[in-house]
Amino acid sequence: MRLIVLLFCTIFLCSCRVERSDRFRSLNFELVELGEGVYSCIHKFGGKAICNVGIVDNGEETIIFDSFLSPDVAKELLEALKEMDLSPLKYVVNSHSHNDHIRGNQVFPNEVKIISTTRTSELIEKWEPLDIIEEQKFAPDRYSYYDSLYNSFKGDKLSREYQQILMWRPYYETLSNSHIEVKTRLPDIFVDSVQNFEGPNRRIQLLSKGQGHTESDLILYLPDDEILFTGDLIFNECHPYVPHGSISKWKDWLDFMNSLDIQTIMPGHGDIGTKDLVDHMKNYLTNLEISARNIYLKGQAIEDIESIEIPAKYKEWWFDRFYGTNLRFAYEVHEKEKVQ
Ligand SMILES: [Zn+2]
Repeated sequence: MRLIVLLFCTIFLCSCRVERSDRFRSLNFELVELGEGVYSCIHKFGGKAICNVGIVDNGEETIIFDSFLSPDVAKELLEALKEMDLSPLKYVVNSHSHNDHIRGNQVFPNEVKIISTTRTSELIEKWEPLDIIEEQKFAPDRYSYYDSLYNSFKGDKLSREYQQILMWRPYYETLSNSHIEVKTRLPDIFVDSVQNFEGPNRRIQLLSKGQGHTESDLILYLPDDEILFTGDLIFNECHPYVPHGSISKWKDWLDFMNSLDIQTIMPGHGDIGTKDLVDHMKNYLTNLEISARNIYLKGQAIEDIESIEIPAKYKEWWFDRFYGTNLRFAYEVHEKEKVQ
């Protein structure tokens, strides 16, 4: 069975200079102004947005970067846009094929075109029908489990335990209904290397270097503002999900990001951050590779890998259930290289 990826979070304090806006209120995301005409929608705990979404107006046209897990939350985004006095919405970008970044596509009018890489579109077309069938099988039970924990919880509501319940409950609730609510809308336009959208206020660049977090990723860069929207090539204080991509190519992507002028990063999950997030992600991937190599050298059984303790510096990161899965993947990559 294909693993279904996903996640979210955001209770981190950010040191960047951003405006937390009261202009638009949603239970699902927080609207954050990164600059004039540049916004992030940061997923909230307990909400159904799941991933972060970017909004960029170049003075002539507006582009949305990713579209949330839930079509209902994407509709909220459309409502927010009406209040924001932006240039006409022309494009929605899918940074990659994972469900939490693409399932809002269907709410945008036909004249708003969806952009992805060619491979991402192929992956969406192949996997979405299968994933939605799988979700019908496993998601309702998981939702019931987290819902009962939520309803019976008596402890500290600021505790990590409660925050975990708040994270996963709406995720599984949304997946439980995906077969009813989701009508997969495939991308219309493909960008496989570089595409510029020049406007009077700024240049918007879409950039792809292919495989990384998945078989194909796409980022949005604002060179005049030094702002980068990374999709899931960067998670902030959350374990990324690694097995659908390539660790070595993901690190190449991060080296490329390090070559760009960047003041502010909107990651796929977690709060807004600075350029430091690039090295944090690279260090995480390198740590995985080293741990996998050590396990291989010790001849440890692969069955034991997922019980290995998370390194201290990543213990507080969210989505900790991904660590063992990531380590197993890194081990298998290492083993394959040794055999060849
Ligand atoms: Zn992803």
